Amino acid sequence: MAPDSLNISTLDGDTVLLDLNALERIPEKARVLPADPRFDEATLIWNGLIDKKPALVIQPDNTAEVVSTVDLARDHGLLLSIKGGGHNISGLALADRGVTLDMSRMNEVRVDANRRVVHAGPGCLLGDVDRATQEHGLVTTLGFVSQTGLAGLTLGGGFGYLTRRFGFTVDELIEIEIVTADGQVRRSNRETEPDLFWAIRGGGGNFGVVTEFTYRLHEVGPDIVGGLIAWPAQDHAQDVLGLYQELTASAPRELTLVITMRLAPPAPFIPEPWHGKPMIAIVACHTGDPAQALEDLAPIKGLGHPIADLIVPKTYVEQQSMLDATQPKGANYYWKTEFVAELADDFLPVFVDIGSAIESPMSQMMMFHLEGAVNEHAEDDGAVGNRDATYVTGAAGAWPAGNLDGDKYQAWVRQSWEKISPFSTGGNYINFQTIDDDTSRIESSYRANYERLQKVKARYDPGNLFRVNRNLAPAR
Ligand SMILES: Cc1cc2nc3c(=O)[nH]c(=O)nc-3n(C[C@H](O)[C@H](O)[C@H](O)COP(=O)(O)OP(=O)(O)OC[C@H]3O[C@@H](n4cnc5c(N)ncnc54)[C@H](O)[C@@H]3O)c2cc1C
Repeated sequence: MAPDSLNISTLDGDTVLLDLNALERIPEKARVLPADPRFDEATLIWNGLIDKKPALVIQPDNTAEVVSTVDLARDHGLLLSIKGGGHNISGLALADRGVTLDMSRMNEVRVDANRRVVHAGPGCLLGDVDRATQEHGLVTTLGFVSQTGLAGLTLGGGFGYLTRRFGFTVDELIEIEIVTADGQVRRSNRETEPDLFWAIRGGGGNFGVVTEFTYRLHEVGPDIVGGLIAWPAQDHAQDVLGLYQELTASAPRELTLVITMRLAPPAPFIPEPWHGKPMIAIVACHTGDPAQALEDLAPIKGLGHPIADLIVPKTYVEQQSMLDATQPKGANYYWKTEFVAELADDFLPVFVDIGSAIESPMSQMMMFHLEGAVNEHAEDDGAVGNRDATYVTGAAGAWPAGNLDGDKYQAWVRQSWEKISPFSTGGNYINFQTIDDDTSRIESSYRANYERLQKVKARYDPGNLFRVNRNLAPAR
């Protein structure tokens, strides 16, 4: 028999018995209780390290049902979390014994090719948007893994293969619809409720539940040149990093290069003798003229003796999902990263040392090139800040579920982070923060924009209803 009440955590951390009659304004089909066959899927998130079990999931179909859920949580003082794609590394999509708003059913994508904009629901994954916009040969700036949630990525800033050309994802955001803590549905853009629009462009889920995102589109694809090329780390790491340093100093903005060191996976494209051995790889994406792309990529393809070269003409959509298999849902993940302003000569050996010390079959030492459009915005153009960043680098610890060496792999991440920290701008990417990052790390992500964020928080969410996130205490 279905229960008539639930034990739910309050905002203060107490537990209350909630009579299910309190859910009367939420349609029954949107309510997912623990005994419901949909519950496990609705509470499954990417990082297997996170062990949280909500008391109740609400799966809204529309904005009105989001309003009813926000009203319910506010009026009863219930702990509320919001799940976009569930990819947040710290597991911020879920709250233990709380109410989770699972936005996955609100995943409509509408492309207005004439106006060059796309409207996307908060339940979209990146691939949903890429596939729809590419039907018109259009794109907006999204991330490197197509299964990542659009909402969380956007609200933290967002970067990917097109960031050098068009900036952070939030630089391409034109408007949102959002339900704030008072239950109001607001449309916000640079002219209407501009402070709110400023704050959500980097400030995460602190200000309400976004029910629609509208982005600017550009002509890119469908054909691009991209892929991965890998070499044995022992023989080639120094040369590959040296070439990366040289190329990224002058590469056209159509070319984005990512570098990774890891143990070679047992993938069919890696010859068997190299499986499990240290490798260094460049992931390339060139969205310019294909002939120019091959010319720009020639120095990479000509370097040394690669063990795999998968850089070929392909579609943009293929490129966007190329790395999906390297980030399986349910494995354990622990990352620490920093923004850096330049690729200093003395950083290269540090990168190689860290990459060479990897022991987990899934961990990676990464570097993403960002320099370009992001640096042309003022530091306070959106809460995201970090306009001095030209690279993101860090240790991405990962290991299969059930592997008992997690402590060792996490220690590698912490030791690596200590080594890269001296090269940081002092800023870090809020969306890459992990379970043990504290308030000081939130402050160092927003730096000069932090106090203004707290003021906007005080205006739109003075009771801190939206607290299952990288939380900003409302200014007093
Ligand atoms: C494999 C992988 C690859 C990644 N690659 C990139 C990348 O290339 N570029 C990049 O920029 N980032 C990248 N990230 C980081 C990613 O941006 C964050 O993990 C982000 O939080 C994921 O969004 P999500 O919707 O899946 O998150 P969720 O876990 O669902 O939610 C995260 C947070 O967003 C808030 N939120 C979600 N939906 C809403 C909403 N509708 N309204 C208000 N708040 C909401 C929640 O409150 C929560 O605090 C990657 C992450 C992973 C795991």
